[in-house]
Amino acid sequence: MLSEQMMALGKTRSVIREIFEYGNKRKQEIGADKVFDFSLGNPSVPAPESVNQAIRDILDEMDSTAIHGYTSAPGDFSVRQTIADYINKEHGTSVNADDIYMTVGAAASLIISIKAMACPGDEFITFTPYFPEYRVFVQVCGAKLVEVASREGDFQVEPESLETAITPNTKALILNSPNNPSGVVLSEETIKNICGILEKKQKEYGHEIYLITDEPYRELVYDDIKVPYLLNYYDNTLVGYSFSKSLSLPGERIGYIVVSNKMKNDRDMYAAVCGAGRALGFVCAPSLFQRVAARCIGQTSDISEYKRNRDLLYSSLTKYGFQCVRPDGAFYLFMKTPEDAGVFCEKAKKYELLLVPGDDFGCPGYVRISYCVKTEQIVNSLPAFEKLAEEYQL
Ligand code: PLP
Repeated sequence: MLSEQMMALGKTRSVIREIFEYGNKRKQEIGADKVFDFSLGNPSVPAPESVNQAIRDILDEMDSTAIHGYTSAPGDFSVRQTIADYINKEHGTSVNADDIYMTVGAAASLIISIKAMACPGDEFITFTPYFPEYRVFVQVCGAKLVEVASREGDFQVEPESLETAITPNTKALILNSPNNPSGVVLSEETIKNICGILEKKQKEYGHEIYLITDEPYRELVYDDIKVPYLLNYYDNTLVGYSFSKSLSLPGERIGYIVVSNKMKNDRDMYAAVCGAGRALGFVCAPSLFQRVAARCIGQTSDISEYKRNRDLLYSSLTKYGFQCVRPDGAFYLFMKTPEDAGVFCEKAKKYELLLVPGDDFGCPGYVRISYCVKTEQIVNSLPAFEKLAEEYQL
């Protein structure tokens, strides 16, 4: 007998992947330049040249068995020290190397953090719209994902709705800003309100409520927007970070978790993170890319193309009559659909526009448009969006 839960997971491909596969087939049929694929969040700008240089330097400087060998389970100590130093310099924190656990990207950062704390009956809260894998990660850890709706229109968070969602079973809040799929960045005021509510509820229930902050898009923000660093606002925080988007390295699978050393039981929590990493088989993240990440820390791919795309797409779509949330970060635009998002996406396909319905993100009535594509694709797709708007007489 096999695990029904795992079989079901393996048999249902994510909607995003389905659309991406459809796009590949369609590109073969009519030519890649005729298909406007806005499905995947795969960075379209290359990694900075310093990444390639770091790889060459490491290959030249280090012994090959060390480069390709195991590091310690939570990651190479000097890599973790470099990351800790960087975080402290950037955010005025006092993180140590032993508060950091190297992971294979944000997905692993998340599931390790959840696994480290989930007990049967626990609830993990997140705001809609959210990255669909949260559901999978929370459920396979035997807990329940509780969705709290963000404010319709601008997708900022209303503190009162969080307060009513917290119960004695709440173990953690999972926060993602800049957000996939809305591109919304939570303001400092909102962050303070959220943390205030968590503090209040911890006192009321007499136990810890943790904050897991999922931050693969931290550096992808436009127009000087600031993304508050949660360790400075709430002691019971775990930061899940990834270099997938900031350095355009999603295939290399490298990221880390920071456990706040200001939480009361921080050594226990770090031990639980190490234990969860061990239980899930996520020990010793890719050795070469741990070192590349340390050498390139603080650098970001050139995101000017994303900003150009954001500006062009947002101004054009709103001109055609669509209602969109103006994204301040990440590389997604969330657009309201004039009818059911699934039906809308099918109609969009007639114009070779591949968009993702918001339903899986916990937000029906919207579509996600990933604008991490060449600007040329946006320019060429605009007449198709205009025709789609005309079809709905917007
Ligand atoms: N969290 C969010 C919000 C994401 O959008 C993604 C990927 O797109 C991940 C986590 C997973 O990132 P990684 O590829 O680093 O595992």
